[in-house]
Amino acid sequence: MYDLAIIGGGINGCGIARDAAGRGLKVLLLEMNDLAAGTSSRSTKLIHGGLRYLEQYEFSLVRHSLMEREVLYRIAPHIISPLRFVLPYQENMRPLWLMRLGLFLYDHLGGRRLLPASHRIDLTRDVAGQALKPGLNRGFEYSDCRVDDARLVILNALDAHERGADIRVGTRLVAARRQNEHWALWMEDRHGIQTGEARARILINAAGPWVADVLDKKLAIKTHSHIRPVKGSHIVFKKLFDHDRAYIFQNPDGRIVFAIPYERDFTLVGTTDVPLRGDPGRAKVSREEVTYLCRAINRCFKKSVQPKDVVWRYAGVRPLFGDEQTAASELTRDYVLEVERGRKERQAPLLSIFGGKITTYRQLAEKVLERMKDDLPPGTKEPWTAKTALPGGDFEVDGFATLVDELTEICAVPTALAQRLISAYGTRAREIFSQEGKGLERGTEFGHGLCELEVRYLIEHEWAQTADDILWRRSKLGLRFSNAERHRLAAWMRKYHERDVS
Ligand code: FAD
Repeated sequence: MYDLAIIGGGINGCGIARDAAGRGLKVLLLEMNDLAAGTSSRSTKLIHGGLRYLEQYEFSLVRHSLMEREVLYRIAPHIISPLRFVLPYQENMRPLWLMRLGLFLYDHLGGRRLLPASHRIDLTRDVAGQALKPGLNRGFEYSDCRVDDARLVILNALDAHERGADIRVGTRLVAARRQNEHWALWMEDRHGIQTGEARARILINAAGPWVADVLDKKLAIKTHSHIRPVKGSHIVFKKLFDHDRAYIFQNPDGRIVFAIPYERDFTLVGTTDVPLRGDPGRAKVSREEVTYLCRAINRCFKKSVQPKDVVWRYAGVRPLFGDEQTAASELTRDYVLEVERGRKERQAPLLSIFGGKITTYRQLAEKVLERMKDDLPPGTKEPWTAKTALPGGDFEVDGFATLVDELTEICAVPTALAQRLISAYGTRAREIFSQEGKGLERGTEFGHGLCELEVRYLIEHEWAQTADDILWRRSKLGLRFSNAERHRLAAWMRKYHERDVS
């Protein structure tokens, strides 16, 4: 009997699992696919307040998100880092005074301590202006943070597991029914084979864009809440500019588009807002979205891009809360928690999550446990996640370069590889990649610095099953791997799973 069963291994499900396990609860988490395979690996990868949401008067959401930026940065400085944004002033778009007011609020709403404040910039002199079209002469610069979204999910799952949670990846909830004071759950694996039953006192529906599907089809429960699935797409180019700041551009349709330096050699461009019908798992980047994003870039950059220059693309589905009448880009990015307790007294509760952001996942987990506090066993511990590092994140925010130097020396790896390993595993990289101080025993090399030692670690400790789990979620090496290299890794992993590898 579990205290808590969670459906969904995205950021919200894994964040709740970590928080609950650390409070001493018995936790089960089911993820039908890979961890973070849903929306949580398909975001813009920002830990941000959301400058744009100020225009929608979402002051509370912006304030909480701004406060959370530095909390998350401190507990995971390996996968989260500060990022400066250049906001050029474009005539006929938002007036200068509005931008200045927005940035003043953005600087002061959220108790900023680590991140630098915003300021004006002269783009005729600043290096950030060199990539831009003539006419974009002035603007502002402000702070937010970037995050490796998929690794944030995995580190939450890893920590939850190390605190006793039962994390079942590749396990789909097929049905759950109330049996008075507990829930009975039925599950199946990726091949549709039943993998047994479980019982839990509380059920959490953290299925993201599938939240309504789980309610309707798996639990047979009607809800009055509306989920509006809204697709957002990103495209990636070989790098479009040569500095470490991002751009935020205003589009003539009132939307904004980001161009963000990505994985050292690339630029990430997004996003769109397209209402989605059908299975969120099948959402694809459309030709129109690619054209829309290329146009946004060509409007502002000197260098012009075309759809054929896109080296990678991905679409995610925002599980937003709201009615059909509101425009997709106007829907709130805040979350709503809905509790359902059945018709009789003392029946097992269900809590469903609608909406949310990566940025607010930790606060959301605390709110979920707060809402459930009368149903938790006596002796359940107090909130704890704000001050406890995620796995590998137990170092000071300015300690990244020292860790890279140490790893370079201990393991005799090139600096670029050490940087990748520290930004994935933090302080744990040393444990993983050096064996008793004797240096690295790397085993088979798969290319681009990925070796057998790392692959084995990812399979044995981070639930990786397929080559894509490693190339697109535990890392972004997929951007660099050729098809032949990917096939070789996939073949090795298949053999490993069949225990053919000596
Ligand atoms: P998901 O990550 O989708 O997780 C739900 C999981 O449930 C899935 O993995 C799915 O496989 C699983 N599941 C479903 N049904 C079942 C079942 N029956 N059994 C078992 N498992 C099941 N937020 C930010 O803070 N910053 C950003 O920069 C940002 N950018 C974004 C850009 C885009 C384009 C989009 C789409 C979103 C963005 N967001 C951003 C929002 C953020 O990504 C989402 O709010 C968040 O990832 C949702 O997480 P989740 O855990 O609720 O859902």
